[in-house]
Formats: sequence, C-alpha cells, structure tokens
Amino acid sequence: MPDNTMDKIVSLCKRRGFVFPSSEIYGGLNSCWDYGPLGVELKRNIQDFWWKSMTLREDVVGLDASILMHPRVWEASGHVASFTDPLVDCKQCKARFREDDLSAEKIEKKQCPNCGTLGSLTESRKFNLMFKTFMGPVEEAASTTYLRPETAQGIYVNYLNVQNVSRLKIPFGIAQVGKAFRNEITPGNFIFRTREFEQMEMQYFVKPGDDEKWFDYWKEQRLAYYLKLGIRPEKLRFKQHGQDELAHYAKAAYDVQYEFPFGWQELEGIHNRTDFDLKRHQEASGKSLLYFDDAANEKYLPYIIETSAGLNRTMLTVLVDAYWEDKENERVVLRLHPRLAPIKAVICPLVKKDGLPEVARQIEADLRPHFPVIFDQQSSIGKRYYRQDEAGTPFGVTVDHQTLEDQTVTLRERDSQQQDRMPISALKDEIRKRLNADWSVSK
Ligand code: ATP
Repeated sequence: MPDNTMDKIVSLCKRRGFVFPSSEIYGGLNSCWDYGPLGVELKRNIQDFWWKSMTLREDVVGLDASILMHPRVWEASGHVASFTDPLVDCKQCKARFREDDLSAEKIEKKQCPNCGTLGSLTESRKFNLMFKTFMGPVEEAASTTYLRPETAQGIYVNYLNVQNVSRLKIPFGIAQVGKAFRNEITPGNFIFRTREFEQMEMQYFVKPGDDEKWFDYWKEQRLAYYLKLGIRPEKLRFKQHGQDELAHYAKAAYDVQYEFPFGWQELEGIHNRTDFDLKRHQEASGKSLLYFDDAANEKYLPYIIETSAGLNRTMLTVLVDAYWEDKENERVVLRLHPRLAPIKAVICPLVKKDGLPEVARQIEADLRPHFPVIFDQQSSIGKRYYRQDEAGTPFGVTVDHQTLEDQTVTLRERDSQQQDRMPISALKDEIRKRLNADWSVSK
C-alpha cells in the first residue's frame, strides 16, 4: 500500500488554513508555500519555544543579522567555491537529480531513475546553491551579492560585537532565527525542502580543546528539546556524518533525524565547525577576530559548535507526528502539544438560544487576553469539536443549561475526549495549568 499520509497532511493544511500553495491563482510556484492563519501561529509557537530554550540560558543571547551581506563573506566562508551539489541530467526525459541521491548501481549504469533509460545520465557537474542578485540599479559583476544560504555567517562576523556588549565569557552562544535561501536541485515533500526557508541556529563559542565535550553536550540538549516538543522518541535518531560526507567546514557532524512517511531525514545538523569560519574571516577581512581570555591571559580563535534546525521542517515534523486518524470515533486529530496549538480552546454554547451564546461570548472575551480562543456556535456540538480536533485545538468549553443555574461549564480534552465539569471562574487557571504541564505523548 502506498503511504498517502503526506497527501492527507497537505490537504488538511490547505483546508484548515495552515499552509497554502504560493501564488495559487497563477498555478502556484514550485516549492514555495504561504502560511495561513493557523500555520503562522503554529510556526511562531515553535519558534518561540526554540528561542526560549536557547535564550533563557544565561550563556546564550540573540541576534538578527541582515539577509544580504558583503559578498566577500561568502568567498571567505567557502560558499562561493564549495557550496555545491553534484547535478546530473537525463538526456532522454530531461529530469534532473542530485547525484548523491542516486544509488551506486544507477550511477554506475548511468541509468535514469525516472524513465529507466540506461546510459542516459550526463556526467555530474557542480551546481552552486546560492541565489545571486544585484545591489543597486546596475546589473554587473561588481554589484553581485547573494541571498544568505545559512544564517550562521551573520553570527560569525558579529561575534566580537555581541561578546563585547554582552560581556560574555567563553563558552557562550548566539542564537538567531531567520530566512535562508538555497537554489535546491530537488526541492519537494511539501515544506520539507524548499528554496526559501527559515533556520533556527545557535552558534556556541568554546575554547579549542573543549570542543568535543561541548559537541556531546549540545547533541544531548538538542535531542531532549525535540522530546519536550512532544515528538515521539521512537521516531527520532542521530545519524553521524562519515568523513566523506562532512561539509567543507566541519570536523564532526551529527544529524538529528525524524522518520517521515518518506523515510528517515535530517531535521537538524549539529556541527563542530572548528575555527574554520573565524580564521577565514580574519584572513579575508584583515581584522583580528581573536578572543581575549582574561582569566588565562591568552588570545585565541574560539571553536564553534553549531546547532542548525529548520523551522519549516520542524513544523512539518510536528504536523506529521501529531496527525492521527481516530478510526474508532471517525475523526482526524492533530495531537499537537498544547503549547504549540494555534488555538488553545473553542468556546461553544450547546444551543443557539436561551441566553447560552451570551454566556459563551463572555467567557471568550474573558479568556482572549490570556490565550488564543475562538467562539463557535455553528452546527452540532460533536461537529464543532471535530472541526477543532483537526486544527489541533486542545480544549473545548461548553456552556449548557446547567451553566445558567450553577455557573459551571464542561472542559473537554481533545485526545481522550474526557470532559470535566468546573466553575467558569476556574477555567483560566485550569487551562493555563494544562498548557504548561509536562505533556507525555500518548500517541
Ligand atoms: P541537506 O543535505 O538535506 O540538503 P543540509 O545538510 O545542507 O541539508 P544544513 O546546511 O545542515 O542542511 O541546514 C541545517 C538545517 O536547515 C537542516 O537540518 C534543515 O532543517 C534546514 N534546511 C536546510 N535546507 C533546507 C531546505 N532547502 N528547506 C527547508 N529546510 C532546510
């Protein structure tokens, strides 16, 4: 049976307003996606969770560097020369592939995986993934610049500025979330691989010699983070890069991988980038990037441990992991961690009369300053709950006739569908408590 989970998730995302195809009225644009009302909240909640997990530490501060940087940054960083993928074309059907995605057998026989023709693949050539553009009105080589392919370089060239103003001592980290652009040869799998995406990166500056210790430390931290995000542990694993797979800057690298419906794939890269980048920028700019360690009274170039996660890719992971077809109750549920859910509660009058909508409206108004809630009185109560189950809304509050007598309501939990009766006055604290509770995944 072909696994069509991805198709179902893409369709749910469109239907519920998580993600729309970009420029849809013009037929869409390959690999570009727009985030709708629920998608933008989910993405922001993931970003906030990441941001807090980094910057609520005393040794990590934030930065927001510009997307366009001096073109020499990308020469020094090695991206102009080495940020390439090996590209092969099929002479028969014109399909295009990354050579490193093909099996050894296909490469040997030059066989196209698309049309199957033997000997039809071209020799591989290096394709640079950076998007080029021009600064100013004249399109000439001297005004060429690039859309950043990673956010990291903005951190490296600023690291002494940040360290000076924050008076941080090594080891310390700088966190950043922002757009990155790569002219990928084979984008696809919905928002998994796109040409425009957001990265959440934290670069940790350490004393050379301490790098392996900190590398191990961050590996463990990052795995723990995904568990706190509510991802099922059995769907997560580390994959170590072999010597032949290492990026041009890395001494060691592990990927955090998730088992998507299309296989195990990278979610985040953890790299020991050594002093490669700082050394190159120091040489190319002629400016000293040495850190002064006043305790040891010595100067050195720090080593850098990088944790680099994709925000959109994390959102896809969260969606895939949360997607649940509850066959018994004939409903689709997004079992999102309540902390990540775009809407926290739906407030429903049982019927549209007898003064119940007015009470429900008042509850909505009282809760809204504290967390995103919505009011819904359309169709049967069951249908209203199921609509919200699909949007991942963790709680449902129902106002019924008993409410008019004793000022109590029912609070329904999305996954178990359990309902608890409680006073209206206790709702806010109860929902807040459940939002912040440690949430073990019973998926
Ligand atoms: P791959 O080998 O899959 O192309 P990579 O090893 O080049 O990925 P990194 O440079 O380590 O990826 O980027 C760090 C993170 O940024 C990735 O783990 C991923 O989550 C995210 N990312 C990278 N490229 C893309 C993309 N084209 N679309 C969406 N997210 C991406």
